[in-house]
Amino acid sequence: MQGICLLGATGSIGQSTLDIIKQHPEKFQLVCASAHSSVDKMADICRRFRPARVVMGSEKARDELAAKCHGLPISFEWGSDALDSIAADPQVDQVMAAIMGFAGLKPTLAGIRAKKRILLANKESLVTAGKLFMDEVAQHDVMLLPIDSEHNAIFQSLPQSALGATKKDVKKILLTASGGPFRSWTLDDMRHVSPEQACKHPNWSMGQKISIDSASLMNKGLELIEACWLFGVTPADIDVVVHPESIIHSMVSYLDGSVIAQMGNPDMRIPIAYGMTWPDRIETSVPSLDLVGIGQLNFESPDLERFPNLKLASDAWYCGGTAMAALNAANEVAVAAFLQRKIGFLDIATINGEVLNQLESHPVASLEVVFEADENARRVAKNIIEARVWI
Ligand code: NDP
Ligand code: MG
Repeated sequence: MQGICLLGATGSIGQSTLDIIKQHPEKFQLVCASAHSSVDKMADICRRFRPARVVMGSEKARDELAAKCHGLPISFEWGSDALDSIAADPQVDQVMAAIMGFAGLKPTLAGIRAKKRILLANKESLVTAGKLFMDEVAQHDVMLLPIDSEHNAIFQSLPQSALGATKKDVKKILLTASGGPFRSWTLDDMRHVSPEQACKHPNWSMGQKISIDSASLMNKGLELIEACWLFGVTPADIDVVVHPESIIHSMVSYLDGSVIAQMGNPDMRIPIAYGMTWPDRIETSVPSLDLVGIGQLNFESPDLERFPNLKLASDAWYCGGTAMAALNAANEVAVAAFLQRKIGFLDIATINGEVLNQLESHPVASLEVVFEADENARRVAKNIIEARVWI
């Protein structure tokens, strides 16, 4: 029986993880769970799964939840320290890191330091603190399983135990991208899209922020950096391939001309279950792939002119140090402003680029440096947004 700490239980990845736990009660037990402010959703999780400890983002949310779950034998907690504490709880074997954004970094590190198996959905933590993060994984001899579907696919397509040091017979990693809802739109058309249009991903059902990132290709930019840290490569070792059907989740091309791909229906329960049971596999209830029904798989190159975020991510990687944390922070602020209809869709990349240009990059010598870079970049991004009329 594996004890699970589910960080971000009320989100899209959280719900898919709960579905796997529910399907295999003999294998998994929800021991700890967290959410930010979704009290009703969390109350439902508490009633159905009876975790021992639950953490909310504020005292108010904690109190509301405790009142709704009166009588249940659950410890109701709140705040950042409690979040770190559940990731390190002695009853926990695996930590699913599925909080949205930079907020996921600290509790994920707490899980690493407590030597838990880490199931990493929260790509932002690896993007912002990559070297520190991977050093801690190595130092504590932790099993890190990528949950992001592309990285999970690359992990499955690489020789075993390739995390952190890709084997020398690998020629390229082929990172697939759906291209998002605006793949074939003109720049003029994209200028006026609404948050609702940007959130409508053609193949995946996901949280708001990652859906916007997918539409702007920032998600692929973050994933490029994520792959570099996970597999010990650079952007030059990775080709991004647009594959609108999202059936191939990524590939590895070998020196002898072989290409190994991982395929499946676009459903996050597949990589989640794989991470939870690796090196074994279990039932997920995801239907098998109907290749004849799908008929065709298509591929094209990404258009960096219409989707400059992808290039910005590669620039940030080569710039190194805190540039990646700055880009991530700028993007989190810009996406929030777009969702609030303060800026247009294309302005997200403009703001990301301006923040990267304005801020000097520093070596990531400590976690404090990462937090400082994140804070600075958020301030600069907010100033840029306030200083202009965007729409
Ligand atoms: P959602 O927005 O659906 O869920 C986010 C979760 O994080 C919720 O439980 C939310 O709680 C919690 N949360 C939000 N802000 C904070 C905060 N400041 N502090 C603590 N908890 C917070 O996101 P997704 O599930 O889509 O994505 C989660 C992570 O997984 C992201 O990093 C994303 O990039 C990654 N990922 C997601 C994929 C997907 O298919 N969805 C695929 C690959 C990666 P509340 O509900 O209370 O707000
Ligand atoms: Mg992905």
